Amino acid sequence: MNGKRGAEGDSDGGDPSDAKGEGAWDADPVELGVELLRKFEGSELSVAAAVDRIETVSTDPAITREVLDQAERRGVIERENGMLRTRDSGFVRYESEVISKDGEFTCRRCGTDLGTGYFLKLEAGEHGPFGSSCIRKVTGRERE
Ligand SMILES: [Zn+2]
Repeated sequence: MNGKRGAEGDSDGGDPSDAKGEGAWDADPVELGVELLRKFEGSELSVAAAVDRIETVSTDPAITREVLDQAERRGVIERENGMLRTRDSGFVRYESEVISKDGEFTCRRCGTDLGTGYFLKLEAGEHGPFGSSCIRKVTGRERE
């Protein structure tokens, strides 16, 4: 179930206050998205795979585009023959950058109900919750 997509028509991005409105979610979705790409483990991913990650931050296509744009402008990724190449090797150190919490969560990626939620600690904010297999996909540790 995708219970969490209650978007209230936020079309113009930019304003962090209209992003998701759940708990401590005050991070700029574009910053989160760029950081997520920077953390991606492995050097190459398809645009579709990148978008799949970014959509865990926001399903707004304008934000998705802005994340890819910013990431490219800042040298986080390079586009090459329809693939994206990540340039930083800032991959996630699992022990310190992924935290788990017990409770009732819904995976941001696939919508599964979780007893344990995994969160990625990014400079821009905490990103999650994800299930144990989705967190590995989001970080690129596990390829589809
Ligand atoms: Zn999931």
